[in-house]
Amino acid sequence: MVFYDTMARQKREFRPLEGNRVRMYTCGPTVYDYAHVGNFRAYVFEDLLRRWLKFRGYEVYQVMNLTDVDDKTIRGAQSEGIPLREYTDRYVKAFFEDLDTLNIERAEVYPRATDHVPEMVEIVQRLLDKGHAYRVDGSVYFSVASFPAYGALSGMNVDEVMAGARVEQDEYEKTDARDFALWKERKEGEPYWHSPFGPGRPGWHIECTAMSIKYLGPTFDIHTGGVDNIFPHHENEIAQSEAATGQKFVNFWLHCAHLIVEGEKMSKSKGNFFTLRDLIAQGHHPLAIRFFLLSGHYRHPLNLTQAALEQSRAALQRLWDFRDRLEREPGAAESHPEVIALLDRTYKEFIEGGDDDLNIPRSLGALFDMVREFNAALDNGLAAKPEIDRAREMLREFDRVLGVIEAREPGGDERIEALIREREEARKRRDFATADRIREQLRAEGIVLEDTPQGTHWKRV
Ligand SMILES: [Zn+2]
Repeated sequence: MVFYDTMARQKREFRPLEGNRVRMYTCGPTVYDYAHVGNFRAYVFEDLLRRWLKFRGYEVYQVMNLTDVDDKTIRGAQSEGIPLREYTDRYVKAFFEDLDTLNIERAEVYPRATDHVPEMVEIVQRLLDKGHAYRVDGSVYFSVASFPAYGALSGMNVDEVMAGARVEQDEYEKTDARDFALWKERKEGEPYWHSPFGPGRPGWHIECTAMSIKYLGPTFDIHTGGVDNIFPHHENEIAQSEAATGQKFVNFWLHCAHLIVEGEKMSKSKGNFFTLRDLIAQGHHPLAIRFFLLSGHYRHPLNLTQAALEQSRAALQRLWDFRDRLEREPGAAESHPEVIALLDRTYKEFIEGGDDDLNIPRSLGALFDMVREFNAALDNGLAAKPEIDRAREMLREFDRVLGVIEAREPGGDERIEALIREREEARKRRDFATADRIREQLRAEGIVLEDTPQGTHWKRV
C-alpha cells in the first residue's frame, strides 16, 4: 500500500509505526457555523482513508479536533450575547448530524480545544524553557528562527514565508513577521484562561499539537487535512511539536485538493457557496453527494456541478438496482468460468486501486465494469447462484469502504418498506383501493413498485 506523502513529495510504502495499529490525526472544523461542502470533501476523503485502512486489516485510531475557541467563535457568541460554549455546542451538534447525513464514520476521539487548555499551556511552557518561544507582555510567540527545518512541508524558503506572513493587528509586537502566537493575551470582553504567562487564550496551531500528542503520542502515523492547511497551519504544528518533544512529529502527511463549484473557487461573494444543508434542501440525495465527493481522486481538484451530482445519483441507482437484482435472481443451472474470472478480476482491481494512494476512482471503475458485465451474464443466463452470492458479498465488502450501497437511504428505507408491507396486506384482503392509493403515494415521491413472483421491489426514478 502506498500513499503520497506531502513531506517526501512522492508515494511511499505505508506501514504503521507500531504493529497493526494506525494512529491518525485529522484537523477538524471550527464550530462557528455550518460546514460547507468543500469542508466535507476533506472529511469524506479522511473517512475513505480510515475505511480503506480498516478494510485492509489495520486497526485505526483517529483523532479529530473541534476548534471551539478562536476569533470567529468568539465573535459569533458575542453577537448573540450567549456563552461561547452554548454557541459552539450548536455547531458541534450540527457537525455530527452532517457526518451522519454523509455516512461518515466517527473518529475515536473528538477533543475540544477548550477542554485541553492545560495541555496547551504545558507545551507553551516547554517551548519557552527550551528557548523556542518568547513572551511579549501577556502573549507568547513561537520563534521560527529557532527551528531551522521550518518550511520543509510546504517547500517554502524563508523569504517566501516572510512575504506571505500576515501580521495580525494584535500581533504587531512580535519580533519576526514569521513568528506566530502560541498564547494570546486576554482582551476585554473575551473568554480567557489562567496560565503562568497571564490570562489569555491559546493560538489555533498549538491546539492541534497539544491534542495530537496527548492522544497519539509524540510521533504518529498519519496527519491529514486540506491543502489549505499545509501553510502555515501544519508547518507551525511541526515546528511546535518537534521543538517541544525533540522527536519526529508525523510519518505520513496526506492532503486533499480543493472542491471547486462550476469551475470556480467557492466563495460567499460569488454566490456559489453551499453548505451540505443547502444541497440537501435543493433535493440532492445525501448518498449521491457522498458518492460525488468520493468519486474524484483526493489529490485532484473536484468540480461540483449540478450535472455531476445528477450523474452521481444515476451511478448510485445502477449500484442499487444491481444489488436488488442479485437478491432476487435465481441463477443459472451451472457456473461459467468467465463469470468467475470476472469476479476475481474485479476484486483484484478494486484492491489495487485503493492500495495505490487511495485511487478510489480506479476501484469504482472496476466495480462499474463488473456491474455492466455481470448484468449481461445474468441476461444471458450465465451466472449461477454461487457467483450471484459472491457478487452480492463483494458489494457488501466494497461498501465497507464506499458507504453508499447498503445504506441506500439512511432512515428512509424502513418507511418505504413498511408502506409496501401495508400494500401487500391490503392486496391480500382484496382491498385494492388502499393498495392503489399506497402505490400512487409512492409514485408521487418518485418511487416505483415492481411486483414479481419473489415479492415487491421498489426503486427511485
Ligand atoms: Zn490542525
